[in-house]
Amino acid sequence: MVEQYFAPETREELFEYLGRMTPDSRFISGGTDLILKLNAGKTCPDTLLYLGALPEGREISEQDGEIHIGAMADMTAIARNPLVARTCTALADAAGHVGSVQIRNKATVGGNVANASPAGDLTVPLWLMDARVHIAGPRGIRTATMEETVVGIEKTSLNYDEAILSFSYPVPSASTYTAYRKLGSRSEVTISRVGLAVLVRMREGVVANTRIILGAVATTPVRAFSAERCLEGSRLEPEAVEEAASALSEYILEINKRPNRFYKAHASKGVLLDVLDTIRQRSGITLP
Ligand SMILES: Cc1cc2nc3c(=O)[nH]c(=O)nc-3n(C[C@H](O)[C@H](O)[C@H](O)COP(=O)(O)OP(=O)(O)OC[C@H]3O[C@@H](n4cnc5c(N)ncnc54)[C@H](O)[C@@H]3O)c2cc1C
Repeated sequence: MVEQYFAPETREELFEYLGRMTPDSRFISGGTDLILKLNAGKTCPDTLLYLGALPEGREISEQDGEIHIGAMADMTAIARNPLVARTCTALADAAGHVGSVQIRNKATVGGNVANASPAGDLTVPLWLMDARVHIAGPRGIRTATMEETVVGIEKTSLNYDEAILSFSYPVPSASTYTAYRKLGSRSEVTISRVGLAVLVRMREGVVANTRIILGAVATTPVRAFSAERCLEGSRLEPEAVEEAASALSEYILEINKRPNRFYKAHASKGVLLDVLDTIRQRSGITLP
């Protein structure tokens, strides 16, 4: 039974309440995951600490060459934010396709990452940007990478008394383009079976470097280096894209041993073609 409810409005209050958390306490942000678990009796916390009353929790800003996104920013705010659209369209793409309008208005980026579902949509573009996670605990704030934070299925490295405060990533160069697509069983309100985020950095019309991050195929997002190598030095011409799609498919078969791996390996090819097509349009690349 929930015996205590905290809603800190300042950093000082947050640190004080963090010091009163126990291993049975839970944070609550949008509640779209936690309330379902509470109702199903899957979790019975002694304390709930609501993070939404912190004034800076929802801010999205640019400071010293980095984009900072408050952990309480909801999906609608992220999908519509011009700074996010300019610096990581993949993140806006992902936020804009989470659940339904009602879910997007409540669900937060901090809750999405802390929930650590392999099908979590925002984890993938944040991994793509090599985002830093800023984490508050009773003794202060620490920073970790996404890899250090999300470590398994519904498993993070966060201690019971640690809350995600915000995320940050460096503003990429002007010739950097990103996109995210997910494939689910329905076109709307669907959970990812494959989530794919791609970053392409162009120099003089040629792909100088790229990052390809796959979600929902392993316990955490994974980077597809072999597919990246097929695109580097190309102009995203069909041969290079086909080669990258085959490499991506082979990589999924290597790392995923579940029965649905053949479906995921096959489907990911189409998702990559779709993402690269979007990047081509965003970058204005025209094929000879
Ligand atoms: C109908 C429906 C459709 C959905 N569709 C999608 C979808 O398409 N894509 C997708 O990715 N997800 C989807 N979800 C899952 C969910 O909406 C997201 O994971 C959401 O981002 C969770 O955020 P929240 O703020 O609601 O988290 P909450 O429910 O408040 O919390 C989730 C978990 O994270 C912890 N937590 C919350 N905030 C923090 C923090 N700042 N620091 C540390 N721990 C924290 C909580 O203690 C809890 O364990 C869907 C859910 C529903 C019900």
